[in-house]
Amino acid sequence: MDAKIVILGGGVGGTLTANLLVDRLGDAATVTVVDPTGMHAYQPGFLYVALGQANGRWLTRDERTLLDKRVELAIETADRVDPGTRTVHFASGGSIAYDYLVLATGARLVPEQIPGFIGAGHEFYSLTGALRLREELRRFRGGRILVGVAGIPYKCPPAPVEFTLMLEDQLRHRGLRERSEVTLLSPLNRAFTVESASKIVQPIMEQRGIKLSTFFNVEAVDPAKGTVSSIEGEEAEYDLLVLVPPHRGQSVIDASGLGDEGGWIPTDRNTLQHQKYDRIFAIGDATNLPISKSGSTAHFEAAVVASRLVSLVKGIAPKAAYEGRVMCFLETGGHRATTLRFDYTHPPVPPRPSMVWHTAKWVFNRLYWHTVPQGRVP
Ligand SMILES: Cc1cc2nc3c(=O)[nH]c(=O)nc-3n(C[C@H](O)[C@H](O)[C@H](O)COP(=O)(O)OP(=O)(O)OC[C@H]3O[C@@H](n4cnc5c(N)ncnc54)[C@H](O)[C@@H]3O)c2cc1C
Repeated sequence: MDAKIVILGGGVGGTLTANLLVDRLGDAATVTVVDPTGMHAYQPGFLYVALGQANGRWLTRDERTLLDKRVELAIETADRVDPGTRTVHFASGGSIAYDYLVLATGARLVPEQIPGFIGAGHEFYSLTGALRLREELRRFRGGRILVGVAGIPYKCPPAPVEFTLMLEDQLRHRGLRERSEVTLLSPLNRAFTVESASKIVQPIMEQRGIKLSTFFNVEAVDPAKGTVSSIEGEEAEYDLLVLVPPHRGQSVIDASGLGDEGGWIPTDRNTLQHQKYDRIFAIGDATNLPISKSGSTAHFEAAVVASRLVSLVKGIAPKAAYEGRVMCFLETGGHRATTLRFDYTHPPVPPRPSMVWHTAKWVFNRLYWHTVPQGRVP
């Protein structure tokens, strides 16, 4: 009998895993992707939408067009997983049984956790938010801009820094720089999580007159006063506020008792198996692994999980292991970028920002739809 493999989530991790599996298992398995909308979003593009450098239409595709024809797609919201009976229950009332389950449900934005934020502040972590911010920036004529991170972990750690540097560029080109003050609020003692990259971007920020406010853990927004307060007891004033909303795991993970207190899935750092259930794997933003929540992480993990599942279905001992591989670009403004490549044992040593890496990021953005989901990038 063929093995039943169910994948929750048709994002970058889930789509790639499904395509790799049918490619290598053929008729030996039935592979089903479960996704609530059946639409796949290329989230790195939200940054460019917010800054008016790309339109939203480029960023979403019908999931069916990205999946191999042998993959089944169920347009359903998974409500609850029962590891005892190996069943996934849908919000619609239906269900699906599995032999192996891959959780690739990503992260959930929870802006409501910051009192006063919704309505008063902006974000570019959703397509709706990015489009709304783009309109606000078009109307902006100068003032105090605060860009901040309202909780750790969040996906794509370099994104707020990239946004800040590229926004500063935009203000200069529009002749608004003199009338504007740009400040990055960081919850850490540096610009963002990766220390070596912070050492590169902080002097650039200083050169461009961008302020950095460290140890600022956002607590609440007061829209009437136009201020943001921190847990540390500080207050910052804004005319335009852009925050990365707090993140947590999806409700299905909470409802199934499969996550920790943040809704993140306790995952073995090498095998990517759930720490309690060995027929359940987790990849991408949904895991509790202490590495960047990024598309590249999901991409490299998908290859490991697919390889391990192929071995399990064929009755061979799985060998593939995830070693913490991550590869990201970091835009530094002025058409320059650097790159961050690291794994569990090798910290990143980012090269000096250059136009080459900026061009590489653009090329990658353009080629995404024809390469990553289909497994055409190693
Ligand atoms: C502004 C921004 C910029 C970024 N820039 C970069 C970058 O430059 N480089 C990089 O590598 N990464 C970047 N990222 C991060 C990257 O997009 C994510 O890390 C990546 O999408 C994670 O992949 P995933 O498969 O884990 O989750 P996702 O791609 O988020 O997919 C999760 C899927 O699960 C589905 N789902 C949710 N709940 C359920 C449910 N109950 N049942 C079934 N399905 C469900 C969702 O509909 C979604 O399709 C960026 C992100 C943002 C927001």
